[in-house]
Amino acid sequence: MSDSLLEVRGLTKHYPIYGGILMKQVAKVYAASQVTFSLKKGETLGLVGESGCGKSTVGRTLLKLYRPTGGQIFFEGKEITDLSEKEMRPLRQDMQIIFQDPFESLNSRHTVGKILEEPFLVHKVGTPQEREKRIVELLDRVGLPERARHKYPHEFSGGQRQRIGIARAIALRPKLIICDEPVSALDVSIQSQIVNLLLELQKEMNMSYLFIAHDLSVVKHVSDRVAVMYLGKIVELTTAERIYEKAMHPYTKSLLSAIPVPDPTKRAEIQALKGEVPSPRNPPSGCHFHTRCPFAKDVCRTKVPEFKEEATEHFSACHFSQELKDQ
Ligand code: SF4
Repeated sequence: MSDSLLEVRGLTKHYPIYGGILMKQVAKVYAASQVTFSLKKGETLGLVGESGCGKSTVGRTLLKLYRPTGGQIFFEGKEITDLSEKEMRPLRQDMQIIFQDPFESLNSRHTVGKILEEPFLVHKVGTPQEREKRIVELLDRVGLPERARHKYPHEFSGGQRQRIGIARAIALRPKLIICDEPVSALDVSIQSQIVNLLLELQKEMNMSYLFIAHDLSVVKHVSDRVAVMYLGKIVELTTAERIYEKAMHPYTKSLLSAIPVPDPTKRAEIQALKGEVPSPRNPPSGCHFHTRCPFAKDVCRTKVPEFKEEATEHFSACHFSQELKDQ
């Protein structure tokens, strides 16, 4: 665990659903189950899956914005799973999040200057003069002019608001940033600018990113490794290079087939995904993917596939990973 910044072991988040006259628990939403991965210093792990697969829940649960139902979280070797909010406070400097919609996360009644000063005030960092200097530096670093600090979030475009969200996230020089679909709401032309800014900042500050996205094309250029989630579970995890060249899991292969390629015959053999993601309230038995998998056999309906290392640094949860890897 020496060069590991974050270790997540068996992280589980289930939401109870209450009903009836007595408001008893009648069901559960299985948002995330047995999620295990690690993140090294300076590394980016892409976390990918369709909407509702639990990836944002994982990001927020490991920051302790949601209370985990089970599993363990270690940050710099120290277990933080059961820390109280008060105990977490000093660590929050090191663990930040960038949201998909910065408009919702930025206080619309505060100027940008006030928004950017808040992390310094909360963590009692710097004198007023030092904070002012730092705010100007932050704006400059994310590509916004000094006068931006006197304006309000609604006076900016979506891309500029995301720059403000990034400035706030890096204000205290964190070690980890959860990038929760940071470019999904932006125009394609703006997406690459924001991705490039995040990459530059990562290099300068040696930060680790958990980069959440709903398709593999977005994480392709930013990730060192990629984890693919389906209905609350990681189904495949390996290096970015291998996930694009040697994907084993049928779900990953289906996601890959959705990425446009210059040669349309190249991925013709891979079936595109059909149907909707089943409800996480009532996930299918056995392998959760069996209702949509073109390779499903009887065993897939009854037996949960083990998430295991099928090749060096390549984990997959499919009964037939070896047979299907070359298909
Ligand atoms: Fe498909 Fe079966 Fe593998 Fe699940 S275990 S991905 S249903 S082949």
